[in-house]
Amino acid sequence: MVRRGIGFLLAQLLIIELMREITWSIPEPIQDGYHESGILSQPYTSVSYYYLDAVTPEALKQQLRERGPTDFLGHRRDASTFWKVKWRWSAGSKGTKTDWSTLRCLYAVVVTLPRWVPVQPLDSTVQSRALQQEWRRFTKAIGMHEREHVAMIAKDHQQVCDAIRKAVAEDPTIDLVKADNIAERALEKLRKSDREFDIATDNGRTQGARFAGG
Ligand SMILES: [Zn+2]
Repeated sequence: MVRRGIGFLLAQLLIIELMREITWSIPEPIQDGYHESGILSQPYTSVSYYYLDAVTPEALKQQLRERGPTDFLGHRRDASTFWKVKWRWSAGSKGTKTDWSTLRCLYAVVVTLPRWVPVQPLDSTVQSRALQQEWRRFTKAIGMHEREHVAMIAKDHQQVCDAIRKAVAEDPTIDLVKADNIAERALEKLRKSDREFDIATDNGRTQGARFAGG
């Protein structure tokens, strides 16, 4: 009983030691605010991450500037939301004629967000805790800003179909090239409101999406 007990105990200690080493070697992301922001549960929206591994506020800010996604002008941003709208219809029963009653507009979104996985565990100092709190606040604000982009396109993508339907109502013999041009113009309006939202909020900074560091 005693001998078996010692062997068992040694094995347990070895397992605990190994677990500690393994846990130590797999870095955990610092808790972010994305879940709270609602960005992770938007329909037709997938989220991708880019990674930061710094341990100091200055290096973290630097990595945000260097690693973030680029916008349509080629400028680095802390996060981005790209969307696409497609319009589809079926051919009419006689094969050639378009059946406009089947017109459908669909959208899909890809959101890119920063995730922070420090190369080494952070210490438990007050500064370190404050930095992690700031990360959570900042990422929640980012998530809420990007969620507004997503909400805009979820609501407004139907304007593309509305514009085509309006043109069809005015001219039922409208050809596909013309319909496509009308759709493109409607899309351009959506892109414009997207940009205006970013100008109005300074890319979310006026909504708190600005990392203050420690
Ligand atoms: Zn934005």
